[in-house]
Amino acid sequence: MPESPEVQALAEELGARLTGHALTGVDVLEFRTTKTRSRAPESLVGERVTAVTRHGKLLDLAFGAHHLVVSLGRHGWARWGGADAAIDDAAAPPSGSAPGAAAVPTDAPAPPPALVTLAFDDTPVLEFTDAGDWVSLGLWVVDDPAEVPAVAKLGPDPADPTFTREDFDGAVVGRRKQVKAVLQEQESLAGIGNAYSDEILHAAKVSPVVHAASLDADALDRLFDATVATITGAISDRRGVPIAKLKETKVAAMSVHGRAEETCPVCGGTIHDFSFASTTAQYCPNCQTWGELLPLK
Ligand SMILES: [Zn+2]
Repeated sequence: MPESPEVQALAEELGARLTGHALTGVDVLEFRTTKTRSRAPESLVGERVTAVTRHGKLLDLAFGAHHLVVSLGRHGWARWGGADAAIDDAAAPPSGSAPGAAAVPTDAPAPPPALVTLAFDDTPVLEFTDAGDWVSLGLWVVDDPAEVPAVAKLGPDPADPTFTREDFDGAVVGRRKQVKAVLQEQESLAGIGNAYSDEILHAAKVSPVVHAASLDADALDRLFDATVATITGAISDRRGVPIAKLKETKVAAMSVHGRAEETCPVCGGTIHDFSFASTTAQYCPNCQTWGELLPLK
């Protein structure tokens, strides 16, 4: 799932390439992606992109007074079509390879289908994709991004230069909820998901499953520092990475997330999986739970 560092890098690349360009065509190949039925994305054809920004994990393409807000959901992403796609695909084997041709890797997943394509003057086609088993990509055409419920509900964003300790304490202190769940709750803190919450908790040496209300002052200090440093550091690190490379760059940058059975870079112990909500997450027992192993279903 794209989280704020990746969506920020996506917004910056789209902003650099699309600002000033006019939308010349829209092709909605999956009608369920359109969340504002009375205002289809096609209604923006002819308008020019004035800015591309981010709200939490959502993307906002501004066309003057109108906004196309895109929720990438669990598996949504964007790519350039046309000539750029040909470059991206250059390493792929040609179809219909003759017998005896170089072995074709059969485990490489097929590229996800484009569900919506946006054509602009003088730029490649922008395609929004969804690699999930169900459609989680969503597009809204609105005059104010806050008309989108997922934007309206957002809590303060740790990447925002105005984010304060008071904002953090307001979201976390006293919450009778597991701290990893609080970090991922968009109403509490905007932009963080399963991956960066694992990274933040590991950096802070805090157990993911303790209730936020039980954290002492030292733990809250560490958690605040780790939240801001992890998110702002990742945003800085992802800046300028091409959107086709962002996912692998994120995966490579993780200290614990997705690294079960690997060595903890802090203590040299072994990173473990545990079950959290409907998914699996990772932690270091030595660093975070005094050696206690968390349940794995
Ligand atoms: Zn460790």
